[in-house]
Amino acid sequence: MPTIRQLPPNLVNKIAAGEVIERPASVVKELLENSIDAGSTRIEVHLEAGGADLIRISDNGCGIAEEQMTLAVTSHATSKLPDEDSLFHVGTLGFRGEALASIASVSQMIIRSRTPDAAGGSEMLIHGGVIDPPAPCGCPVGTVMEVRNLFFNTPVRRKFMRTPQTETSHIVEAFTRIALANPQVHMVLQNGNRVVHDLPATEQIRERIRAFFGDEIASGLIPISGDNGEVKLTGFVCDPSVSRGNNRMQYLFLNGRHIRDRALQHALGEAYRGLLMVGRFPICFINLDMPSDLVDVNVHPTKLEVRFTESGRIYSQLLQTLRHKFLTSDLTARVGNSI
Ligand code: ADP
Ligand code: MG
Repeated sequence: MPTIRQLPPNLVNKIAAGEVIERPASVVKELLENSIDAGSTRIEVHLEAGGADLIRISDNGCGIAEEQMTLAVTSHATSKLPDEDSLFHVGTLGFRGEALASIASVSQMIIRSRTPDAAGGSEMLIHGGVIDPPAPCGCPVGTVMEVRNLFFNTPVRRKFMRTPQTETSHIVEAFTRIALANPQVHMVLQNGNRVVHDLPATEQIRERIRAFFGDEIASGLIPISGDNGEVKLTGFVCDPSVSRGNNRMQYLFLNGRHIRDRALQHALGEAYRGLLMVGRFPICFINLDMPSDLVDVNVHPTKLEVRFTESGRIYSQLLQTLRHKFLTSDLTARVGNSI
């Protein structure tokens, strides 16, 4: 008879890491989200070898108190769900308390952090999930997370990593999504000695779009807004004269979180029907703000997919907002009366 045994926590974390941490870009996404949740106004990302050798994320957020540091890398430990009910009113990007434990179990990690009221900082080393107790160190208020040699103890995963260029492009994408959703945060991305992006804080999302995608797209942006009392829709779509051969430039955000949603992408396609040639896709940067009890973000480990309680209504709201915008702008005159 086979014996049933409970798996040791470190192995559980390694297994969980398989779900959340697919590649270096997943680490960057999780750590950036933590920095945003910590209220940072400046975040720097530093990479070596496409993140395979080093990912360092420094922020000036609230920091982690020394006595909480060990807990921070323990699985299912989070400061973001104060009680059970808050699972249905998630206002932060994180809440599962899994990311740091997962990352720490498959890398060599150093956490340096200092809270505003602490006299000094603390440093903690974790090697493949094995934690060294924190020790005092000098550092400014905020947190530095250093992740070295990702997947060093899961060779199969390590082997699945692509070239530094490919991994870097995934990281740039993760960085872009978070930077677009948070223009109020100064964000820097450095790869080796090269500064890839240095984006000062701005109130104008258009400026951030320009920084990423250039003048052609920024000047073709058409502002949209709609509010049905519950769901607030804001952002930009792009003039049909600027389109793409795939849907990768359809950025959808829900309460500050980047999401993928087939239904909403379909609504977008419908709104542009007749304005674009077959095989061309519109560009958009759309933000949906809604009460958190109208959406379940807890359906997918990386929270990329969400479930709306009233998806049909949101679909029609987006479609109607866009149609109305197109009909009332001179856009239709320019591209022909095709809608
Ligand atoms: P979650 O984000 O779901 O809470 P994580 O494993 O990502 O889980 O992080 C665990 C906890 O560590 C967080 O709840 C937070 O309290 C703390 N933490 C992580 N990163 C930071 C950071 N950059 N600044 C301040 N606190 C942090
Ligand atoms: Mg997190």
